[in-house]
Amino acid sequence: MNKVDHIGIAVSSLQESIALYTEKLGMQHIKTEAVYSQGVNVAFIDAGNVKIELLEPINRESPIAKFIEKRGQGIHHIAYKVSNIENRIAEIKEKGIQLINENPTAGAGGAQVAFMHPKSTGGVLMEICEKKEEL
Ligand code: ZN
Repeated sequence: MNKVDHIGIAVSSLQESIALYTEKLGMQHIKTEAVYSQGVNVAFIDAGNVKIELLEPINRESPIAKFIEKRGQGIHHIAYKVSNIENRIAEIKEKGIQLINENPTAGAGGAQVAFMHPKSTGGVLMEICEKKEEL
């Protein structure tokens, strides 16, 4: 893992957050899509060397809704880019790091993703993601 792909940020309103990043901070909105498996609407912002992934809950059962309820809006996870995610998951497990999902699931942008448990990673929710093509 040697490249941060994106930083995930939990927000209560995509519309307001997109306006913040684009109109006020001058960044480019790449695209918005719904990721039903995670219960979120996702907007990607181009921050140059890294993407900002804005996560808005679709419903109250969404893990992002629960996160915002508990801690408020803010940084949710850091995602590292990998190739061959299955091998990476096996390596991570071997090192004794607990995963939230041991099988890759579909994330935004057609990526395959897996999350490590913050208990194993110093309190930081870490994602690894494999993409077939760049956004
Ligand atoms: Zn992510």
